[in-house]
Amino acid sequence: MPQGREAHDYDLDALRERVMPERGGERSSSIPQLADADPDAFGIALALPDGTVRSSADGRRTFGIQSAVKPFLFALALADTDGAALDRVGIEPTGEAFDALKLESDTGRPPNPMVNAGAILTCALVDGDDPRERSARLLAGLSRFAGRELEVDHDVAHSEHLLGDRNHALAHLMRAEGALSVSADDAVAVYASACAVIVDVEILAVMGATLALGGVNPVSGERVVSAEVARDVVAVMATCGVYDGSGRWMRSVGVPAKSSVSGALVLSVPGTLGAAVMSPPLDDQGTSVRGRIASEILSADLGLHVFG
Ligand code: GLU
Repeated sequence: MPQGREAHDYDLDALRERVMPERGGERSSSIPQLADADPDAFGIALALPDGTVRSSADGRRTFGIQSAVKPFLFALALADTDGAALDRVGIEPTGEAFDALKLESDTGRPPNPMVNAGAILTCALVDGDDPRERSARLLAGLSRFAGRELEVDHDVAHSEHLLGDRNHALAHLMRAEGALSVSADDAVAVYASACAVIVDVEILAVMGATLALGGVNPVSGERVVSAEVARDVVAVMATCGVYDGSGRWMRSVGVPAKSSVSGALVLSVPGTLGAAVMSPPLDDQGTSVRGRIASEILSADLGLHVFG
């Protein structure tokens, strides 16, 4: 496990320079805002237990959180349902794409909360009488993970809602199986707005640290979720967080993480630190190419591999 000073002194700009020449991957084309993202944007940040937050150049550059929000949605659903969310969504890796039109064959539940079906469902499990209330409650919860007031990019939320045909299909499938109790359109609307929350790598690293550090935000000092909820979420990030690339990721990086189509990655090293990296070009599993390489180097340099 890394000792504090190493993480305090680690040269994040040198790491950035090392991975910038890598030119692999393609930006997501799912919505215009992602297709137009700057392919050379790259930021990386660390959030440490003493509340120190450090980042490279581009550390305050904003982007949509996209699927890096899913661990936090799961945490908030677990908290609001007193753990009963675990009866409504599976926790097994799928080995399939993030938006595969597939539910558990025996139960009709989504396979896990890190794929789209599971995240659409966890959004529907938080308290609130209608989509507006649930979105507001999620935004307030995400803001506590971040230790600051977060905002939604409403243009991105609109595009996600309008163009997310597979998400609408998944919501209807869950309705048909009795897994989803709110309307399919309401469920997708809340999920679309959660994916459109605006962050930067510093904010995302603090969110990851809050999960890594037993549910307490190291900057604000606030307990956001229980230690048990944080542990459950980090465990599922480890097995399912990088979709059908989760096995490769755990071997080479060895840190529970969640990837996203915006090229963001949030990393939670249990008991140690949170980190985030963002670079839009993605590999075939939807993982940021530069983000994965930077995470491998960071993990090796700081000794973060949980099986290391
Ligand atoms: N909003 C994206 C979608 O629903 C999230 C997927 C991702 O970030 O991996 O397709």
